[in-house]
Amino acid sequence: MNNVLIKGGLLVDHQSVSPQDLLIQEGRIAHKGYDIDLPLGTALFNASGLVIMPGFIDIHTHFSLQVGKYTSSDNFASGTLSALAGGTTTIIDYITPGREEDPREAIKRWFHNSRTAHTDYGFHLSIPSFNADTFNVMTEAAGLGISGFKVFQAYPDRLMLSDEEIGLIMQHARKLGGVVFVHSESGELISSLQKEALAEGHNHAAWHEKTRPAYGEGESAARILELVEKTRCPTVIVHIGTKDVIEVLKQAKKKKLPLFGETCPQYLWLHKKFLERKQNEGNLYVCSPPLRELEHLKAMWDSLVNGDLHLVSTDHCPFTREEKTKDIKNFAEIPNGLPGVETRPILLHNGAIAGGRFGWKKLTRLLSTAPAILSGLYPQKGSLQIGADADLAIFNPDMVTSLSAKDLHSNCDYSPYEGMLLKGGIEFVFSRGRLVRHGDQFETNPGQGNYLARKEIKAGDLNLIRMEDYPWVFS
Ligand SMILES: [Zn+2]
Repeated sequence: MNNVLIKGGLLVDHQSVSPQDLLIQEGRIAHKGYDIDLPLGTALFNASGLVIMPGFIDIHTHFSLQVGKYTSSDNFASGTLSALAGGTTTIIDYITPGREEDPREAIKRWFHNSRTAHTDYGFHLSIPSFNADTFNVMTEAAGLGISGFKVFQAYPDRLMLSDEEIGLIMQHARKLGGVVFVHSESGELISSLQKEALAEGHNHAAWHEKTRPAYGEGESAARILELVEKTRCPTVIVHIGTKDVIEVLKQAKKKKLPLFGETCPQYLWLHKKFLERKQNEGNLYVCSPPLRELEHLKAMWDSLVNGDLHLVSTDHCPFTREEKTKDIKNFAEIPNGLPGVETRPILLHNGAIAGGRFGWKKLTRLLSTAPAILSGLYPQKGSLQIGADADLAIFNPDMVTSLSAKDLHSNCDYSPYEGMLLKGGIEFVFSRGRLVRHGDQFETNPGQGNYLARKEIKAGDLNLIRMEDYPWVFS
């Protein structure tokens, strides 16, 4: 079913909402218009009452990621099937080399692991150590279509880089037409607070948050702002959950700097009280940066509304209930990360549209368009333009979705959103013109996803994210 006419639905992208028909030919969007006649050899898809959006893009996942003695529970097959079920048709996973490892080996490993993907996919490259070879590795990676580079201001023992090193990486990334993604927390501060808390016998998961204070995130983000001002490198602070970082993003906006902010559903729906649950139940909510007080959560929603935050990804990095809770003696031993690749779109829809905060265009921009632009994939992905890949998430506003781990497609055996009742649901999903989800039926095989080599990011496309001009970014 590669040639399909979708009739009677509401077409939504980041710029418009209109009741048009959409014609798919050879896996791409061929035509949009009112009352298109059915061409010969074309299947008819009746979409009356349904909302048709560009397939969602999650540019922050960790499939088969080894962290100490644990490996995240989803591999590329289960993780991308889970993504597809929720309407996400493209994912970007972080290649994360060991500190002593040649990053080229890690790149090979990720290409090998990703052969079972159900969705289209690409990569960012984490840079856990800086040396004489780093620029060569970045240039080679960009040649392979990997132009997002991740740096850490946290985890001094395995990932953290100095400000000077991050600045040099930004300079080189900008030359390559790439983007730098930053995990912004104050690594040294956290290490000393953790040592102190453990020495005083504080073991409970609640201390995970207490030893990673919000002001530390603000302090480290302010250092990133300075580096962006110096280098003019397009940069994204990832998984933001504190209003301290939002203050830094406001300054970036005022100064017209290309510094963008990503948040995740856990920082929009979950808060510190979950960490305080008795026994080891709080462990199930441990991720970094940690869940915060409700005032921070409210600030995240406000920032999506007023445009201080620019995209919503997941940081999908699940571990099983047993791994999170069994034989864990203190908060510092809990593997960090939550599941979320399947539930992001429906959760955001409920906060946005059902919650009355903002409309379809902004929802599309946060879930699809901005992630596509920041990954160098726009407009092939993240748009319904003529010629774009026919990746579609089709939403039924009349459905009710009840979230439960048993109904989700991840290998993770719990959901932090267990029991939530949500309005609407994803009913159909197209991937490059093929109907891959039809209600509860899936027509998809591991390995059908295509690798996406990313292109240079254009300054003009960056403007679409914030609707502002950055004329000098690549000048
Ligand atoms: Zn992450």
